[in-house]
Amino acid sequence: MKTKKFRSLSFKLTLWYIVILGGIIVLAGIFQYQGFKDSLRDELDARLLEIADEAYETWRSRRGVSWEDAIRLTADRFQSYKPLIQLVQLAERDKKGIEKIIRDPQIPEDSYLFDNKTYHRADRSDIDNLIYCTLTERDLSSYALRVILYPVRGPNIVQVGISLENTDADLRRLMIIMILAGGLLMFLASLGGNFIIRKALKPVKSVVHTAKKISTDDLSLRIEARQRHDEIGELVSTFNNMIARLEKSVKKIKQFSGDVSHELRTPLTIIRGEIEVLLRKERTKEEYQQTLKSTLEEAAHLEQIIDDLLFLSRIESLEKREFDKSVQLDEILLNVVESKELAAKKKNITLDIIKVEPARIQGEEILLERMVANIIDNAIRYTPQEGRVEIALELREGSILFSVRDTGIGIPEESLPFIFDRFYVVDKSRDKEAGGIGLGLSIVTWVAESHGGKIEVRSEVSKGTTFLIRFQQEQKANV
Ligand code: ADP
Repeated sequence: MKTKKFRSLSFKLTLWYIVILGGIIVLAGIFQYQGFKDSLRDELDARLLEIADEAYETWRSRRGVSWEDAIRLTADRFQSYKPLIQLVQLAERDKKGIEKIIRDPQIPEDSYLFDNKTYHRADRSDIDNLIYCTLTERDLSSYALRVILYPVRGPNIVQVGISLENTDADLRRLMIIMILAGGLLMFLASLGGNFIIRKALKPVKSVVHTAKKISTDDLSLRIEARQRHDEIGELVSTFNNMIARLEKSVKKIKQFSGDVSHELRTPLTIIRGEIEVLLRKERTKEEYQQTLKSTLEEAAHLEQIIDDLLFLSRIESLEKREFDKSVQLDEILLNVVESKELAAKKKNITLDIIKVEPARIQGEEILLERMVANIIDNAIRYTPQEGRVEIALELREGSILFSVRDTGIGIPEESLPFIFDRFYVVDKSRDKEAGGIGLGLSIVTWVAESHGGKIEVRSEVSKGTTFLIRFQQEQKANV
């Protein structure tokens, strides 16, 4: 399945990146704009104060200068700001009305005035809380005005206003620059972000690419990790390990099914061959009996293989079940030894119980019985006539030691690592004759390990073999 572009991780990450970055840029823009606006306003207010102060100083410091002259002189001096200056003389007696207004000739009458209350409030203000306000009535200019009401001796109020035209133009210019720069920044950042995200996700693409190529027929492919120590490197090595494990188990399964077919086929071919030869012509009664006897042996052999295979597959499907019964291992051992006495006697082999101490473990009785039986069977099977098999169950430092030692033919050193593999037999001709099919020790390993046991083997060719399994006492075993 191909990931659609807008559903891909890189697309989503880029989108998130752009949204977050856009948010940050807009926020930063708002703060910057507001800061700039405030500083323009402060500057304008400082200018208004300067002009009002200048008008007052002009009137106060020069003798014979009327307020009309002072207003005109000040307006001339600050003409680049085009200030609107007027003097509002407040009525002293009733403290409510306005006595007179001396205005710059360009200010039309009855405009540019606040109510009486505001002027009286301005009269009561001092340098720290002067009244500044913004007049939005557009009858004096098409722009709003920033105005100061500056109280001077009298009681008089010097009123100075400057149009916000220039300030607004500056702010508009700033807004345009910010939108353009922000847009460009977003565009470049999203290009860069997308490039970086794509680069970071490239190894994931290669994982997907390789994973698609891997099939049960070819599990040898691995993803190149190129020494990465980040999350991607971890993902790649986990993935590679998983494929390696999968490859190993698929190989095992293939080998096992090959082995099973082969092992089942051999006795069937023998049975078929013997019957075909027998039917070619008339035979004597003894010949019929002889052939039937040998085909019966082969059929028994087949039955044993199938029994063992069924047992193995049954116990393997027990996976993850907990063995929670407490079992008396010494009793199991004594019962199994008793059941093997006859087989041992047939070969004149002495079954000797050296020591049996009471030992309990948590597990499954039938499985443990099979484990003990398989080891004792092998000891009897691979020990010649008049031999000896010694069996012991001892407690040592919290462990239970189960050992079976025989005086048999032994196992060559080079075969020791393989004897627990399925269908492995040391010497086909030698072991087949003894009746082995190479599954007994696979069952032993599985049972022992699922009960927390560890197996050791010591063997010397022509001298004998010792199997030793070590369990923890009363240990809870997990399958
Ligand atoms: P089998 O059913 O053929 O005995 P196992 O899996 O039990 O298969 O054992 C594998 C091989 O290990 C056998 O073919 C045999 O050669 C060797 N083996 C196992 N136990 C003994 C033993 N006590 N003495 C000598 N060889 C043994």
